This record gives sequence, structure tokens and C-alpha cells, in this order.
Amino acid sequence: MKVIGHLINGALDTGGESTAGSRLQDVTNPSTNTVTGKVALASKATVEEAIAAAQAAYPAWRNLPTAKRVRIMYRLKTLLEQHADTICEHITREHGKVFNDAMGELQRGIENIEYVCSAPEKLKGEHSKNVGPAVDTWSEFQPLGVCAGITPFNFPAMVPLWMWPMAIACGNTFVLKPSESTPSSALFIAELGIEAGIPAGVLNVVNGDKEAVDTLLTDKRVQAISFVGSTPIAEYVYTTATAHGKRVQAFGGAKNHAIVMPDSDLDNTATALMGAAFGSCGERCMAISVAVAVGDECADALVAKLTKQIATLKVGDGMDDQSDMGPLVTPAHLKRVEGFIATGIEEGAELAVDGRGLKIPGFERGNYLGACLFDRVTPEMTIHSREIFGPVLCVMRTGTLQEAMDIIDTHEYGNGTCLFTRDGEAARYFSDNIKVGMVGINVPLPVPVAHHSFGGWKRSLFGDLHAYGPDSVRFYTKRKTITQRWPSSSLREGAQFNFPNSG
Ligand code: NAD
Repeated sequence: MKVIGHLINGALDTGGESTAGSRLQDVTNPSTNTVTGKVALASKATVEEAIAAAQAAYPAWRNLPTAKRVRIMYRLKTLLEQHADTICEHITREHGKVFNDAMGELQRGIENIEYVCSAPEKLKGEHSKNVGPAVDTWSEFQPLGVCAGITPFNFPAMVPLWMWPMAIACGNTFVLKPSESTPSSALFIAELGIEAGIPAGVLNVVNGDKEAVDTLLTDKRVQAISFVGSTPIAEYVYTTATAHGKRVQAFGGAKNHAIVMPDSDLDNTATALMGAAFGSCGERCMAISVAVAVGDECADALVAKLTKQIATLKVGDGMDDQSDMGPLVTPAHLKRVEGFIATGIEEGAELAVDGRGLKIPGFERGNYLGACLFDRVTPEMTIHSREIFGPVLCVMRTGTLQEAMDIIDTHEYGNGTCLFTRDGEAARYFSDNIKVGMVGINVPLPVPVAHHSFGGWKRSLFGDLHAYGPDSVRFYTKRKTITQRWPSSSLREGAQFNFPNSG
């Protein structure tokens, strides 16, 4: 059986020395629950080997001209396009999302590489001449050293591409720890990186679980950690790694609300909500999982339209191009989501559409759950307060826009949100005041494009700087400001006891 191993110091290990000491865990296809491979779970020693390789590669890599580092990224972009089918098959077969959705994910990753190609421009620094008598000052952005990334199962190609390409373009070296549920695409992309010309040790991939993560969080040689995953682990990663002196950005979970105003185009709104709630089986941190309808009439019409559209949703294997939605990632996750549905019913929400018990012919052992729609959900219900991460859309009812905004603002998460309306004043008020990091107006998944940055507020992000885009240049570099004067025969000064200034 295929072993999904580690990539350390430029060498892929699929059963050799470093995997010899690793525990093995099954990787399964969520559509059938057949085992497709065994992922190696790195020991502390294996992770330390990867960190040592990254540390050794750092001095030469940081001194390479940025343009040369970036040239590798141009080649990588071409390789990613050439191998898109293979990458997306890995994604679909391990995650379950439909192939076209995997293509969309990969395209977003490629767009990050395109932005990374502007690193020479982004790193050129700031210069001021004559800040004092014959004194010049400049600020430059220096790499940090060894950086590490820890990524979730749900965007196995895109999220790693948020991290390591910019990190290494800035002159750092990197150790990536992908999700153990969906490890193949990140490893394959890293191999393409080596093919594109990334030198040995600059990019390393260790597969693993908590043991690998904890080693990265505590090892003195690692300077910065980028994490994406659930909020409890994000908080743990943030507190542990900052306590060990590292720079940390830890992106957590979400509960994204869309407010539906009575003046919105309800047909378009319902269609937009279908994709945002059920795309990728609801396993997106930006998925809309709550629709807050303003007014009962609006709520009734919305529930009727969604119910009608759900009846036409095609659920099936992700490699079938007729499928709109695939299975959930694991049987354990399916059970968890079904548990939330049962709790929702117990707590008094109305299950308007019940997707449970769905069997797909030929894929009877898959983790399938049809789209579910709850109506009359209230703020204190568990299905509202917790992230479900499945194909479950909750409809809430309020009397005013402000009441709907209060529900969002008092929620612990603040990743994404959207307002559906035709009213420009309401839209402006909403985007100006809502306490959420990424806001859409009639755009249900307002995931910023690559030349902006991605990040939520409240307990959806621990740390300050957002992912990719301009913030990623700041995250993966340290500002240094140099003030310089050269001896000059025309300038003779006595000792200066006042604080230096421009005078
Ligand atoms: P997860 O938190 O279970 O795992 C994320 C990573 O942390 C994995 O690499 C995993 O191996 C590691 N990990 C898990 N448990 C750990 C532990 N106890 N100690 C140390 N490391 C541990 O998340 P997941 O289930 O893979 O991904 C889904 C979650 O990620 C959802 O909550 C989703 O909202 C969130 N997510 C957030 C964003 C964002 O940008 N905010 C993006 C994608 C996913």
C-alpha cells in the first residue's frame, strides 16, 4: 500500500529512513471509505530532522537575490497548471469535494503564487535621504529564518499555498505539516516545488499529528508559525507558540451569517445561498451556515425557495461531473454533524429539509448526508452557537437589520458575512459597522483575492496579520531600520548630548 511520507532536505521518503520511525494511519476515500494509502505520522526526531534541514539551508537561501527565488515560483505556477488534474484527483479522493470545486481551490492557490511573484517589488523597502546632517535612513524587510505551517483538511492544496510560497520568496525556509486526513496534494505540490528548482532543505514537508505539531511549536529554531484549523487548536497553537517566543498567526473556525433583507432579489439570494451553504458539503471556513431573514414574509419565501432548490441538488461521488456536492470527510465527522442535527431538533428548531439517511447507489459506504435546512433557529441554540462544518443551513428570523446585525456581533466568531439587499444605505451601514473580518454585499463567499489578505475577527483569528496578500509579506519578514552617516571632511561636530533630531 502507498505510504504518504515526508519530504526532508529535498528527498521524498515513502517508506525509508524517516518513515521507518513513524506511526502509520489510514487515509480513506470519503465516498467509499476504502483505504487509499497510509500516511506516516512523524516522530519528534523526524520533525527535528526537517527543522535542521531548513536551518542549514537558510543562510544561502536568504542571500540569493529575490528575483532568483521568485523565478522558481514562475516555474512552479506552470507545473501546477500542467498537473492540475492529478492534484485535484488527490483532493477529491481524500477530501470528497467535487472535482470542479477542487479546481477552484487550486486556482486560488495558483493566484497566490502569482502574487508571490511580485515579492521583489514588495521587499524593496523604504528610503529617506538627509534625515539629519549627511544622515540617510532606510528600512528593509529581512526574513525570519525557519518558519512552519500547520494546515487543515478542508483546503489541502490552497491553504499550504497561502503560506510557504511567500515565506520562501521572502528568504525564509519552511517546514509544512499538512492535515493527516488529506495529505497527498500538499506533498505532491511540494515535489513540484523541488522540480521547479527549490533547493534541498528550503521546503520540507512532514506529515503527522499532535506530536509533529508540538515539536514545531516548541523548537527554538522555528521563528514563526502559521496555523489554519479549528478554534480550540488555533488557540492552543497561538498560546503555546507565543509562549515559546514565536511570531504566530492562527486562523480558527467560523459561523458565517448572511442577512437577507426583504428588498433583496430572493431568487438570486436563494441560489447564492445554495452554493455558499452546500458547496464542499459545508466544509468551508467561509461557508454560509446561517441565513438571517428580516421579516416573517421574507423568511417564509426564502425557506420555500431553498426547499425547492435543495430538491434538485445532486449529491454524489466527487469524480462524477454531475455531482454538486460530495460526502463529508470521515465517518466520525458525519456522526458529529448528525449529532448536531439531533440536538437542533431536541432544542426546538424546525427541520424543514432532512438530508439524513441518504444512500448513493454504488457508494453506499460513503459518508453521505443530504442538504439539511433548519427554520426558526434562535441565537442560544447549539446549532447556532457551534460550528457544524457540514451541509446544514439554519434560518433565523428577525424584525430589523439591526437585530440581525446584533446576532452576528454577539457571536464568538467573526470570519465572513454577507448582506443581500438592493438598499445602498443599508449595505453601507452594514459593511461599516459589522464586527466581522470579511464582508460581502450580495456576494456570499467574500474570500479576498490574492492581492488582498484573508482573515477573520474575534475567535476566528489569533494574531494580528492576515493570510496571503500584503499582510503575508509583513508576517514573513522583520523590519530593520538602518541609519547611516559616512565621515565627511565638510562636517565636523562636537559631542552631541541632546537627543538626535533633524536640526
Ligand atoms: P483541526 O483543528 O482539527 O486540524 C488542523 C491542524 O491541526 C491539522 O494539521 C491537525 O493535524 C492539527 N491538530 C489537530 N489536533 C491537534 C492537537 N490536539 N494538537 C496539535 N495539533 C493538532 O481542523 P480541521 O478539522 O483539519 O479543519 C477544519 C477547521 O478548520 C474548521 O474549524 C474550519 O473552520 C477551520 N478552517 C479555518 C480557516 C480560516 O482561514 N479561518 C480555513 C480553513 C479551515
